[in-house]
Amino acid sequence: MSGHEGGCLCGKVRFRATAPAIDKGYCHCRMCQKNSGAPVVAWATFPAGSFSWIGEPPASYQSSREARRQFCPHCGSYMVFVSDRFPDEVAVNTASFDDPEAFPPDMHIFVSTRISWLHLADGLPQYESYRAPVDLG
Ligand SMILES: [Zn+2]
Ligand SMILES: [Zn+2]
Repeated sequence: MSGHEGGCLCGKVRFRATAPAIDKGYCHCRMCQKNSGAPVVAWATFPAGSFSWIGEPPASYQSSREARRQFCPHCGSYMVFVSDRFPDEVAVNTASFDDPEAFPPDMHIFVSTRISWLHLADGLPQYESYRAPVDLG
């Protein structure tokens, strides 16, 4: 099968992305921090039409009026962010892929809420928002 596959910790919810990534980065927003429990979440966006769930369907949490975060209902792994603001795209947590090496981040976003003990020395550009001053939610 072409493309890249990934899934949750328990393996019941799986996904596949067949197109190249549109954008790849690290998100430092508080919502990603709270949802993951990690100081930062690496993500890669894909055309929605190239992304599909395989195996069991995910559960979904409406984290703001326009955004939903999708996760495994069995093990709780957070894997995907979708927003009405970007209806043609799906943002996948990079480390959820079986091969996270395939999508190295090339930017940092929402760096105003970067946790100070996490030091960045990778030289990547750092942005206060993503594409526009939006509330990713
Ligand atoms: Zn699971
Ligand atoms: Zn975020």
